[in-house]
Formats: sequence, structure tokens, C-alpha cells
Amino acid sequence: MDGLLDEVATRRARRHTAIGSVDAELRLRPGLRLLWRGPTEVQVGTDPRWSVVLTDLDPTAARVLTDAPPGVTTRALRRTLTAAGVGREGVDAILDHLGAAHLLTALPGPDPRPDEETWSLLDEAVVPGSERHRSVRPRASTSVRVRGLGRLGTGIAVTLASAGVGTLHLEDPGAVTRHDVGAGLTARDIGRSRAGAVARVVLDAAPTVTIANAPAARVDLVVLVEHDAADPVGYRALLSDDVPHLSVVVREASVLVGPLVRPGATACLRCVDLHRTDRDDRWPVLAAQLVARRGPRHEETAMASVAAAIAAAQVLAHLDGRPCAVSDGAIELRLPDLLPHHMRWAAHPDCGCVAVPAPASAPPRWDERARHPAPETADPGAVRAGVS
Ligand SMILES: [Zn+2]
Repeated sequence: MDGLLDEVATRRARRHTAIGSVDAELRLRPGLRLLWRGPTEVQVGTDPRWSVVLTDLDPTAARVLTDAPPGVTTRALRRTLTAAGVGREGVDAILDHLGAAHLLTALPGPDPRPDEETWSLLDEAVVPGSERHRSVRPRASTSVRVRGLGRLGTGIAVTLASAGVGTLHLEDPGAVTRHDVGAGLTARDIGRSRAGAVARVVLDAAPTVTIANAPAARVDLVVLVEHDAADPVGYRALLSDDVPHLSVVVREASVLVGPLVRPGATACLRCVDLHRTDRDDRWPVLAAQLVARRGPRHEETAMASVAAAIAAAQVLAHLDGRPCAVSDGAIELRLPDLLPHHMRWAAHPDCGCVAVPAPASAPPRWDERARHPAPETADPGAVRAGVS
């Protein structure tokens, strides 16, 4: 078998060289599908970032490959191909091409956790230019505090626990209301403490997670879910204690996920306030009222679910050591479409939280190029209407 990779994989074939003999302990990356394309062609994977087509196969080899189970080991594949009558040269060519395309892995088992399986496909060896993949296993040693346990905070906590975060600190002084029901909380939870009720939901979803109740314990990251505006009292202490934190603010019909602040390294929430003040000098007055008058705000169902998932993804990126999309920025989700809009902020020169580069080389301080074209009403300035 010549075993040529077709044009789907040509880009990849140029990057990689065949690896010769393949380690018998390797297996096909478990998330990949094996698809019959014709008597002599099999496609491995469907994502154009890593899928390859093996061509000029022996028809028997094509059939055996198509029938192979997900995550098949190279040892089992060799044995099955050989038993079906495929010659050694043909078997070696198939395994060499799979190896050259980095579609084989040393993952220990054929049934990895869902996150482990998916992230294995995003390994830098598979997707050039992607960031270094860290196994999801270390998440078990990480800890996150979630402060604010409405529907959105509950969704974040459940997602983090399900993704393997080891310890969650759940904080909310309030009780479950009928408006919280639906994100895992049930009608039976109404009136119970939110922290206790959400702990039960989290443990139901991820029995191995540790629920901690130590307000002063050091954690890897704090998620602040707030309504209307970020409260400086909450984030200033985290800044001074050098604790990474993610701001999630639920507004009238939108949610702002971000920034994720790495103290001393990325723009902080005060930087964001200073940028807003640059655009609307009355913003501090408005922000003070929003914080002082803050009351329970309902969290629209779909908006809370989407925001929780996006917020959890940012937290996991930070914990895994991957770049976070909302460092020096935020993702805004607005009803009705809830499509994410990416906003970027640099550190504000008047804040002093990080070393700000000289103006000539500074990035845009408020980059709205990726924003929704419609003007935002509350961030940073409302539409003015004269009243006489
Ligand atoms: Zn700052």
C-alpha cells in the first residue's frame, strides 16, 4: 500500500515525518471517528484541523479500519489487520501514517473522561499553533471559590465540578427563591440556604468534588457573580491578596463575563471603571448607585446558562494554564441572540495595577472593533435625551 495522505492532510504531512515503527502501547486518539469513504479510502476524524484520509488502501484494510473500535490500540489494530490478511508492509504503512499525523496517543485507557478525550485532540502536536495542552487530571488539585449562587453561579459551580475541579468553596448569604429553581435547584430547595442547596446539586453532578467552607482559605481563583456592577469591596481585597478572579456581572438584559484578573499581570476591574469614566465622567456616580441599590435581579434562563458555560470555560483555561479569552477583556452576552461579543481593555495608565507601556506602543485602551454595532446603553454611556 502506498498509503498516501490526500490533500486534507497534505499540510500536516509536510510538517511531520513518518515515525517508522509505532510503539505498541499507543492507541488511536479516542475521540476520532473512522469513516469509510470508498473501497480503498478511510477518513480518520472529521475536524479539518486534524482529519486525514488514508487512500490506496487494500479493500480488506479499509474494512478493518472502518470497523475498529474508538481508541483501538496499535497492537490490536495490527493483530486484526494481520488476521484479515493484510501484509506487514501494509500494516506498517497505516500505522506510520497515523503516527505521522499525530493521531496516536499514549493515553492509558480506551475510555477517558470526556474532557480528557476532547482536549487530547487539541494537543499542540495535533493542531499546530494551539497552546500547550495540559492534562485535565491536575484539575483535581485545584480549588475555586464561587461567590454568588443564583442560576448563573450554580451553573458555573456544577460545570467546574463536572470538569474535574477538585475543591469548590460556595458562598452566598441568601436563601433559594422560586426564581432560582431550574438550574439544578428544585422546588424543595426554596427557603434553604443557597450555599447548602447548591452544594447538594454539585455533589449530585460530581460526587468526587470536595465542598469546602473556609472563607479565608487560599484558592486558585475566585468567581464573583454580581448584579448591575462589580463591587469594589469584593475585588480590591482579591487584588491586594494576589488572588486571580473572574468578574461576572448580570445586567438588565446582558451579562458581562470578564475580565479575568491576574493581579499585577492583566487589567483589573478598577482599570475597567477608569476606562468607563474616560467615556462618561458620571460613571462613578452611576456605579456607586448600582452597587448601593443592588437588589435581587432575576437571571433569565438561557442567558444564565450560556454565561455560566462561558465563564466556566474561562476558569478552566486559567486552571489548565491555557490563554484566557477574557484576560484584558470581557465577553458580553446580550439578549435576544446571546451571541458572544469580545471586548478588550488594556490596563489603564491611571490605575497602576500593572506596568503600563509607553503610549506610543500601548495597545488601544478600549477596543470596540469586535463589538456589536448597536450602541450599548449602560456601558459606558446612556443615550442622552434632553428633558425640559
Ligand atoms: Zn487596574
